[in-house]
Amino acid sequence: MKRISIANPVFNGNEKKYLNECIDTGWVSANGRFIEKFEEKFAEYCGVKYAVSCANGTVSLHLIMLGLGIQPGDEVIMPTLTYIATANAVRFCGGIPVFVDSVKGTFNIDPAKLEEKISERTKAIMPVHLYGLSCDMDPIMEIANRYDIPVIEDAAEAHGAEYNGKKVGGFGLASSFSFFGNKIITCGEGGMVLTNDEKLFERMKLLKAQAVSPEKKYWHIDVGYNYRMTNMQAAVGLGQLEQIEWHIEQRKRIADLYKMFLGEYSDILVLQEEPENCRHVYWMSNVILQDKVKIERDEVMRRMEACNIEMRPLFYPMHVMPPYFDKELHCPVAERISARGISLPSHALLTDEEVKYICDNLIRIVTEKE
Ligand SMILES: *Cc1c(COP(=O)(O)O)cnc(C)c1O
Repeated sequence: MKRISIANPVFNGNEKKYLNECIDTGWVSANGRFIEKFEEKFAEYCGVKYAVSCANGTVSLHLIMLGLGIQPGDEVIMPTLTYIATANAVRFCGGIPVFVDSVKGTFNIDPAKLEEKISERTKAIMPVHLYGLSCDMDPIMEIANRYDIPVIEDAAEAHGAEYNGKKVGGFGLASSFSFFGNKIITCGEGGMVLTNDEKLFERMKLLKAQAVSPEKKYWHIDVGYNYRMTNMQAAVGLGQLEQIEWHIEQRKRIADLYKMFLGEYSDILVLQEEPENCRHVYWMSNVILQDKVKIERDEVMRRMEACNIEMRPLFYPMHVMPPYFDKELHCPVAERISARGISLPSHALLTDEEVKYICDNLIRIVTEKE
């Protein structure tokens, strides 16, 4: 069996054609027709008014924090179980990420543990739609509205995911997406901010391009950044976006196979939940090893690797890693998900046989006597 990798981008649309057009016309940097087109089409796809493309999904989060005017000492509430960029974007502005525990079945931020984290210094609430599944947005929005705190969605892993029939990215004041090579759709590196707020949009657009005056060339009205996306990235991104439903269908196909092959082993392996009111886009399929499994998670991954199957651990909680270490903080649900969770190969090129091979080996390994 050849090595099965965890992620594998697929370019089967107009990506090459559009990219060639950039090279043939010389529009390779931050000007060119694909940038506006990609922004317009992505905003339209998500049902949001304005889009700001940028270099990656980390700086898109930073742009939002800058746009909100996050200052040293300001607090932003987020799940402890996320990718490090969510927390870093706050820290870049001197802000303090405040961490919340997760819901056991969905892995997402627990709305029931959110309100107690709100303080006078809370400037935003940042839910993260983990692994392609929307957070439980109704209670989150209810709390945020009651305290008049803006919600910022980190939707880096959830392009096309839905909650109550509405796409993620349009619930809060702004949202952030990533187009890194392993995401639902990719342009190598890339990011996008979406918002319906015109003032915030203008501010982020200014800051992403050196804060140069819209009226006067080379006249800078603030300290800005070079966070621009290139026309080449946008060309690939647009080609991918045209095929996004295909990409999502493939991931769903893989997830359904995992459900089929692993569903009856729920006493040893549990998959991430898919609540009825959500459309999960399965950026990654994941399993949690149950208590009956006596082998350590990392050992399971090592044995799978020996079968030529690449796996990755679920994210580590922010509060256990050096930049955000907090020994006072206990998030038992997130800590357990992280310690016992594995992300399975989840890309569009996997065949039914390969998924079966993965499942057979996984079941064998977790039921093996040491
Ligand atoms: C991938 C990811 C990001 C950052 O995206 P990059 O494009 O890699 O900078 C941010 N947040 C989450 C939750 C992610 O998964």
